[in-house]
Amino acid sequence: MPLSLYNTLSRRKEAFKPADPSRVTMYVCGPTVYGYTHIGNARPAVVFDVLFRMLRDRYPLVVYARNITDVDDKINAAATRDNVSIDVIAKKFADIWHEDIGALNVLPPSIEPHATDHIPQMLRMIEDLIVRGHAYAAEGHVLFNVPSYPRYGALSGRNRDDMIAGARVEVAPYKKDPADFVLWKPSTPGLPGWDSPWGRGRPGWHIECSAMIDAHLGETIDIHGGGHDLIFPHHENELAQSTCAHGGTPFVGIWMHNGFLTMNREKMSKSVGNIISSREALRSTPGEALRWAILSAHYRQPLDWSDDTTTQAKRTLDRLYGTLDQAADIEESDEEPPEAFTVALEDDLNTPAAMAEISAIARALNTATETAEKARLKGQLLAAGALLGVLQQKPSDWFAAAPKAKLVDVSEVERLIAARTQARAEKNFSEADRFRAALDNLGVVIEDRAEGTKWRMKE
Ligand code: AMP
Ligand code: ZN
Repeated sequence: MPLSLYNTLSRRKEAFKPADPSRVTMYVCGPTVYGYTHIGNARPAVVFDVLFRMLRDRYPLVVYARNITDVDDKINAAATRDNVSIDVIAKKFADIWHEDIGALNVLPPSIEPHATDHIPQMLRMIEDLIVRGHAYAAEGHVLFNVPSYPRYGALSGRNRDDMIAGARVEVAPYKKDPADFVLWKPSTPGLPGWDSPWGRGRPGWHIECSAMIDAHLGETIDIHGGGHDLIFPHHENELAQSTCAHGGTPFVGIWMHNGFLTMNREKMSKSVGNIISSREALRSTPGEALRWAILSAHYRQPLDWSDDTTTQAKRTLDRLYGTLDQAADIEESDEEPPEAFTVALEDDLNTPAAMAEISAIARALNTATETAEKARLKGQLLAAGALLGVLQQKPSDWFAAAPKAKLVDVSEVERLIAARTQARAEKNFSEADRFRAALDNLGVVIEDRAEGTKWRMKE
């Protein structure tokens, strides 16, 4: 069966035909690491993880790159606030990101490029764009000249006025055209910066992904993914930059975008303030149930998140692990996932339909009487579960696990530490002891050092 995927650019499902079947390439825009990521950010990580698992099953080599954006004005602001360098902030929140999505059974990608490791590649690409007449330097900035690329707007389907409004671009005096966007911008002495032919500065966000794709995957890639909000301006700009820097070579075979995870039908986002961090969600719900909940809607549809979403997911997994537990003494045979399951996933990753097939196999396993039939159905259930990244634990572990007992709500820990520091500064030692006891209850050990209070989890 051919895999068919919806291409945002052509606005239809297309048969997936990699440019080189011996090396399939996929790039997904990862997080900007300046704070705790929310469960909406986990959606693309989980969705493209399922696609990665499917592709690995079919092709000998899949190179999947998911980047870390570790230079950004929001990281600068967090570093200034905490009086540390940007790499301290980036490392802390990249580690937290890995832990959180790891708990959701998201496999590490083949490559995880960091933007700050690719400044020379970005500079080279910017120079190429200038030489080819698609970019120009002005007042310490380098800008991409949008009118130089007539197909600009094809991905997002926006007209010129929408584009200018949507990108919320500054109408700066040094721009030749109001839609022109920044490839490089100057840094003041207090901000991170790198030497460049246009003075000390830092990259614009869009050029980072174009340069990392070029460096690791090549000029043309098979799949480029991310959330729906990245279509414009981020991906529109990546497409313009990469195509123009490569003299017109096609950039991406299939553009894929996941729909939003919402709360009360509003996009979950830090700026709205309606977020549930993955960490917080993991305190009450096992990571695998969060994953199941994320996959319970088709990836292009919005997914409205509520307690009900996670309760349902947990209950379904309890039922499925219950089936596996009943069949614990049956040795599963080596099986492929059943055809209907595979067909569902091949139809633009129809995970809800694939999950319904999983439930159907479980029902058949519940009522099967022949040992050979049970072995076959159990084999199918496990094989299908592996493609979705679920049902791979021992049922006894699933039922025994307190949801991720080792993970704590870091913001709560930091709040308690700050409150204790404040109480100590005010010489209110009984109050300080009360906060220490609260931390102890969470399983957190603290240590007072010259540079501040450090904490770790009890072994
Ligand atoms: P950011 O760090 O905001 O650039 O987001 C990282 C990834 O999460 C991008 O692919 C975004 O499109 C995606 N994303 C952000 N918010 C949501 C949401 N509410 N639902 C689904 N995906 C999201
Ligand atoms: Zn990107």
